[in-house]
Amino acid sequence: MSEEKKDTHKNDPIWIDTMKCKSCGDCVFACPYGVLVMKKNPKSLDGETVFVLHPDYCIGACKMCVRVCPEPCAIHLKEITEFVFPKKSDVALAREKEKEETRLRSIELRRGEGEGE
Ligand code: SF4
Ligand code: SF4
Repeated sequence: MSEEKKDTHKNDPIWIDTMKCKSCGDCVFACPYGVLVMKKNPKSLDGETVFVLHPDYCIGACKMCVRVCPEPCAIHLKEITEFVFPKKSDVALAREKEKEETRLRSIELRRGEGEGE
């Protein structure tokens, strides 16, 4: 990593190296706190790039984004030495709500199928 890049991002808890990122979006869905989003970018081959929307919500320690990323060194996390109390962004809360609604719908469907037998 170049010293210039390191220096530019020295205060960021997380940053993405757009030269290495393949815009797959896996990190966006892996982050439990909604730190990352996909954003339209006409300059990108896929028309989208990952964007750090809520850097202050990153707790650093979970590293779920890094674990799922297929590109080594695309995601950079600052070493966080203090405990960061987890908060969830609106994106994360909306995603959880959607998951919960899908779960409840599938329970209702299964119950309906059971009653019809
Ligand atoms: S380290 Fe955890 S909280 Fe921070 S962006 Fe990655 S998955 Fe989200
Ligand atoms: S998982 Fe890695 S390659 Fe995929 S969008 Fe995130 S940073 Fe880019």
